[in-house]
Amino acid sequence: MFSLFKKFKDGLTKTAQSIVASVGGMFGIKPIDTSTLDKLEESLFSADFGLPTTEEILGEIRLAMKKEKELRGQEAGRIGATVLRRVLAGSEGTLRFVEGSPTVIALIGVNGSGKTTTAAKLGFDLAEDGRKVLLAACDTFRAAAIEQLKSWASRLKLEIIAGQHGADAAAVAFDAWQAARARGFDALLIDTAGRLHTKSNLMQELAKIRRVLQKHDPAAPHYSLLVVDGSLGSNSIEQARVFHREFGLNGLVVTKLDGTSKGGALVAIYRELRLPIYFLGLGEKPEDLQPFSIDNYVHAVFGLEEAQDRN
Ligand code: GDP
Repeated sequence: MFSLFKKFKDGLTKTAQSIVASVGGMFGIKPIDTSTLDKLEESLFSADFGLPTTEEILGEIRLAMKKEKELRGQEAGRIGATVLRRVLAGSEGTLRFVEGSPTVIALIGVNGSGKTTTAAKLGFDLAEDGRKVLLAACDTFRAAAIEQLKSWASRLKLEIIAGQHGADAAAVAFDAWQAARARGFDALLIDTAGRLHTKSNLMQELAKIRRVLQKHDPAAPHYSLLVVDGSLGSNSIEQARVFHREFGLNGLVVTKLDGTSKGGALVAIYRELRLPIYFLGLGEKPEDLQPFSIDNYVHAVFGLEEAQDRN
């Protein structure tokens, strides 16, 4: 059977490997000692969970060790999972579609973060669910981005509206919105530029896209999702902070988690910005973009099997 958990487990293997290796291969029945705890602390820290979360996990494990004479590895794993679940409470984003007009999802972020790929994968996922999806290639600054989205669209049989290289991105977004509205599309996915000459040009362009859309639908874009390159680990926090401050976001997508052992960073980002996480990029294939699930994530990073740590 197709298992969502397996996708998380496979995609987060690198992160899980270093954490699980720190406790000698698994959170098993062997009691843990202080030197194992030190290694666990180090591995959580290098997976970029951030200091407060790492300290909370270690603090609760130490407390349990004081209470029990012996604490088994699996108990320690369970405690870690419980802490992560608590820190991540409220972080699962769920797309809600509006009736009667397209739900507009703008994908925002720096070049290379995975916006174009995410637009295509998300379009594919929504189309698989039976939704009518239109892609809008609004990174008119980069000719390659337009071509890349067109090629994804033809591979995945998705409809697309693309402007010419150098065209006004807001005008392309508006054309796409009109087409989506006139033809009864459920979702409009807007791929935006990641780099203009200066940061303020980029923010102005994003703001213009929003302004133009809002003249026709004050609620659009319904989702302004920052696409964050998960392999940058906690270095991406500053980027997220800037986009949130200057543009205003309402959610995150974290990509490329399959290529990194720093998969804890999303916890640190959520902890700081409190923005819900909608999707994770767990591989290169279209079906590797998965809706964020706290349970699947937590189990996968601790190398636990599904439901193993539930009472
Ligand atoms: P953009 O500049 O933000 O539009 O970024 P792209 O969508 O062009 O992505 C940059 C690179 O990251 C491409 O080579 C993608 O194939 C790759 N990529 C994006 N998401 C993922 C992911 O979840 N996993 C992996 N392994 N690669 C990804």
